[in-house]
Amino acid sequence: MGRERIYLCLAHMSGNEEKYIKEAFDTNWVVPLGPNVNGFEEDLKQFHGGEKEVVALSAGTAAVHLALLACGVGPGDEVLVQSFTFCASSHPITYLGATPIFIDSESETWNMDPVLLEEAIKDRIEKTGKKPKAIVPVYLYGMPAKLDEILEIANRYGIPVVEDAAEGFGSLYDGKMCGTIGKYGVLSFNGNKMITTSGGGALICPNKEAKNEIMFYATQARESYPYYQHEKIGYNYRMSNICAGIGRGQMTVAADHVAHHKHVCDLYRELLADVECVTLHENPSKKYDSNYWLNTILIDSDLKVVGEELAYEEVIQGAVGGAAGVTHESKSLHTDCEPNKNVEAMRIFLDKAGIEARPLWKPMHKQPVYANNPAYLNGVSEELFKCGMCLPSGPYVTDEDVHYIVDKIKEAIIK
Ligand SMILES: *Cc1c(COP(=O)(O)O)cnc(C)c1O
Repeated sequence: MGRERIYLCLAHMSGNEEKYIKEAFDTNWVVPLGPNVNGFEEDLKQFHGGEKEVVALSAGTAAVHLALLACGVGPGDEVLVQSFTFCASSHPITYLGATPIFIDSESETWNMDPVLLEEAIKDRIEKTGKKPKAIVPVYLYGMPAKLDEILEIANRYGIPVVEDAAEGFGSLYDGKMCGTIGKYGVLSFNGNKMITTSGGGALICPNKEAKNEIMFYATQARESYPYYQHEKIGYNYRMSNICAGIGRGQMTVAADHVAHHKHVCDLYRELLADVECVTLHENPSKKYDSNYWLNTILIDSDLKVVGEELAYEEVIQGAVGGAAGVTHESKSLHTDCEPNKNVEAMRIFLDKAGIEARPLWKPMHKQPVYANNPAYLNGVSEELFKCGMCLPSGPYVTDEDVHYIVDKIKEAIIK
């Protein structure tokens, strides 16, 4: 029948990316600086309201790392981070010799629970005698967090907020652009994000001085001498002028991308309305304006799905969805925290129908590598992880695709 596989969110070069890359080649700006880097930073600055400064970096992970460094995070410090996230939110805390302290989610936005946040701050101060150095909320799948509450607490205790807006590019909270609300804002342009530079990221900074400091650390921390003089440890984190060219092209269609993801959400809402036991994750109120980077559903635990008895029978080869890179062979069919059988069965059913679907992020406090880290929990993220699933939402996903996906979801349900 020749139907193409439908992916979650593929890179889509529909702007004038080639023009900017060609310019880079023609002028030999094939280094991590140049007109495209400056132009991309200016485009990002304007897209985010024009008041804050932006530094283009080699990855979103690098942006998290440098933001924490700029907040003074160092060995022996603690950082409060949302547990329900991709590992790039918390790993850089460990790069700095500090300890991630995990905060569970509330069930409306699926992001950092402000109640647990304050509980954690009080408890950490009591236990260690020190204030945590930073707070890292995440905008999971594009959904803004409860920022009024989080910022009120952060300000009261005098702790800086680093927004992990890697998935929240173009999302708004109370009319404000995500990434511009805390002290620093992290963006990612990995291949599957709202816009891409093939790989890359950026840090939104409060002012020129902060931007200069980030640039200093992103370029190996060199002092002004006619030779290499180092008084600080730096990193090689600048974005290449080639990648920035892709970014400039993507910025010409960024608003279209966001609009498309929202349109796909509207269609899922309409088509899933009469599907019982399957719930689409949506803006909890008018204050929230998610970019719907990935549309996600929850599947009731008692819903019966075709093939449930076979779920988890086979060892998975590589990472789900064929993520790039090398994975270790898994040692067992199960872990102590995994999606429900009906969710895994749905994933396999959709996979066989040529549809990529994935579980939600597995909470960091359930990851073996963080087994000994303090965590402030309410059970929400674990429950969401067990019931949730990401559906195709990117620029290549057509209306016809969404109809097909929902038809297949209905087909997989045993009445
Ligand atoms: C993608 C992502 C990042 C940054 O990742 P890079 O691949 O390094 O650009 C950070 N946090 C979250 C939540 C992400 O999804």
